[in-house]
Parts: sequence; structure tokens; C-alpha cells
Amino acid sequence: MTQPLVPWAPPAARARIDEVAAELGDDLSVAHVAKVARAAIDGHERRLGAEGINLYAGTNSPSPLVRSLFDAGVASRPSMGWPGAKAQTGLDDIDVLEVLAARTVGAVMGAVHAEIRIQSATFANLAVFTALAEPGDTIAVLPEAAGGHNSHHATGSPGIRGLRVVDLPYDVAARDVDLAALPAFLAEHRPTVVVIGASLMLFPHRVEAVREAVDRAGAVLVFDASHIAGLVAGRRFQRPLKQGAHVMTFSTYKSFGGPPGGAIVTDDAALAERISDAVYPGMTANYDPGRLAPLAAAAAEAIEDDGAYPDACIAAARSFAADLAAAGLDVVAADRGFTESHHVAVDASAFGGGAAAAVRLAEAGIYLSAIALPDQDPAAPEAALRIGTQEVTRRGVGTAGLRQVARWCADVLLHGADPATVKAKVRELRGA
Ligand SMILES: *Cc1c(COP(=O)(O)O)cnc(C)c1O
Repeated sequence: MTQPLVPWAPPAARARIDEVAAELGDDLSVAHVAKVARAAIDGHERRLGAEGINLYAGTNSPSPLVRSLFDAGVASRPSMGWPGAKAQTGLDDIDVLEVLAARTVGAVMGAVHAEIRIQSATFANLAVFTALAEPGDTIAVLPEAAGGHNSHHATGSPGIRGLRVVDLPYDVAARDVDLAALPAFLAEHRPTVVVIGASLMLFPHRVEAVREAVDRAGAVLVFDASHIAGLVAGRRFQRPLKQGAHVMTFSTYKSFGGPPGGAIVTDDAALAERISDAVYPGMTANYDPGRLAPLAAAAAEAIEDDGAYPDACIAAARSFAADLAAAGLDVVAADRGFTESHHVAVDASAFGGGAAAAVRLAEAGIYLSAIALPDQDPAAPEAALRIGTQEVTRRGVGTAGLRQVARWCADVLLHGADPATVKAKVRELRGA
């Protein structure tokens, strides 16, 4: 292989792609491809599941039931159109899965209408922007430094829809939209859609107050609950629709614990119809129905679980945050008890920023990612490490285990411990 595959990728990506391609060599025989693929699948589960501690906030380990319902036969069968009116005949059982997933997701989120055909939360946001705003309209979103997601910003979905994007005023002390500045801001920019909900959600948004201002400005309020969907499903942390959001979008595989995908829920039939039209026939023809059975099971489990799982995730986040602080790390929002969700943030600017710190912790078998902080220097790299406890909770790491992990994080980041030595201890903790 002589041509670089993606010469436009950033240097670190090009180096990694070249490294993997060189390891593969020129043997694309079925036997070799199957062997390499199997090894990667097994290695992935070993690294993150059996031997590592995964604190990455945007992930989860599905329950045994959810896992058991992933099915290659259904996943490889395209499905197009409404149940009862599909382009293909013979998909009567897919009809059942579609209705089951929409019913369970709507029920667990307390919403009448659930759009579950969309393959990611980014596409869910694009569908909502397509349905609710015309090219040239303005939408107002959280600043990226306050956790506003790429799919809310001009580089993502709104850019594809040709929307103008403005940053909502943000109150750093309140860690929320600046409610005092909001009415004048909305009057000036006249957005069609206002989006709240972020990639770091330590504390709830004050949705009722935002809705009041949004109503006076004649806009629609969208809450992106991608990270907190599992908490909302357990009626914990906050309930965006009940509190006044017109529409809620979310990822189905983060705290929600389902398969990768997106969903959109609302009680407003008129908005739901416009969103549905954007999804089909707008953004989907055939789609992968393999997500539906595991999604329905994740929703049903959340209904039956009645908040026990989100409670455990939140309790783990609060105790882990205290452990990290006790170990000497600079945990964000110490003045407010660190967190009310399953998220924790650690200021890592002393270690070269969140990404640099995450790389060192990965060498120790502890996996997570960086996130910006609203009060950081905008020119500096993302200042913090973001932690989510949803996977360690599912895997039963426990309070004592997490206390150990907090000490190991401090050993690596503050005390110059050898990551390989720590990695061996992590593996032992995981029983591998
Ligand atoms: C993760 C995330 C998304 C994107 O979800 P995908 O399913 O990966 O597209 C959207 N919005 C927010 C706030 C997120 O954190």
C-alpha cells in the first residue's frame, strides 16, 4: 500500500492509520481479514471490559438482556417505511420491533411520541433542526466551552442545514444559561430554536425559567439529553419534557444503556409530525432495525428498575469525586458538592490539559476523555478530564474499587507513578 489513505487527517491520526495499515500488510484474504477482525473484537472487550476501568462518559456496557437481543439477522435486514406500509413485504416482525421500541422509549421518557428510527443523536439533532428551522434561521445553543455539542454548532448538524448559530449567554457561577441576560439576548438574535443540554452535565438546567423566556421570544426549546438519558429514564436529576422542553433528543447508548443510536421524544403531535417527516422520508430510506430490540429492552429495564441504576450511578459519582479530591486532584464544583449527576470533572490544566492527562491514564488502563470548562482560557486545550460512572456501576466496580482507582489516578497524574505498574493493579482489581 503506497498511497496514504487519508492524507487530510491530522498528523496523529495519519500516524496511527499508517501503523495499523502496515501491521495489516497486503494480505486481504478472507482468512486473514477474519483473524484480524476477531482479534480486534476480542482485544476491545479485554481492554475496556475485562481488564480496564472505563470512565468514559459517552459509553456504557449493555445489560445481559440488552446484549442478548443484538441480532445479526435483523441488523442485516434493511427496512423502509411505516409498519404496515413498508416498501418490502415479509417484514411483519420488524413492525413489531418498531412499535415495541417506540412504545417503551416513549413510556420510559414519559412522552407520547417517540422517534426511534434515527441512527445517532447527531442525526436526531439534524432532524429536529431540519423540521423546526429553515436555512438562514438562527438557533441559539450552549457555548462549546460549556458543553455545547458539535452537533449543535456550525461545524456540525446546523451547518449542514445552513443555520446561523449563536452562543447562549452563560453564567459561569451558576453553571447554566445566564437567565438574567437571556430575554434581551433572545430579543436581539430572534432564534427559531433554543438548544440546551450539554456534554458535561454536573447540575440540572433551570428548564422552567429558560422555557418562559423562550416562549416570550416565540422559539422552540430543545433539550439534548444525550448524556443524562439514563437518569431521565429513572426520573432522576431532571425531567426536561415535564419541566418545559418542547422536544428532547438523546443518545441511546450512553447512560441509557441501549445500542448506539438516537431518539427524539415530545408530547406535541404537530412538532412530532414535522420531525417524523424529516426522519422519514427525509433522512432515512432503509435503516438498521437491529437496534430496536435491544433499545426496547433497555427502556423496559429502566421502567422496571425504577431509578435504582441512576441512583447507583449518581452515588458512585459523588463518592468518586470526593475520593479524587481527597487524593489531591482538583475536582470541579467542590463548592456545590461536585456533582448531582453521574458525571465528574477534574481540572487537569496542571497536567497539560484533559487530553494529555487522559493519554497518561490510558497507559494505566483507566479510560476517559477531555472536556472544556466554561471558565478556562479559550485558546488553551480542553482543561478538564470528564468522568462518567455509568459503566463502572454496571460492571459492579463498587465504592472501595473506585476509591482505589481515585488513588491510582493521583499516583499517575500527581506522583509520577509508572503507568504500567498501575495498569497491573487495575487488571488485578478487575479480576483479570
Ligand atoms: C454525545 C452527544 C451527542 C452525539 O451523540 P451521537 O449519538 O454520538 O451522535 C449529541 N449531543 C450531546 C450533548 C452529546 O453529548
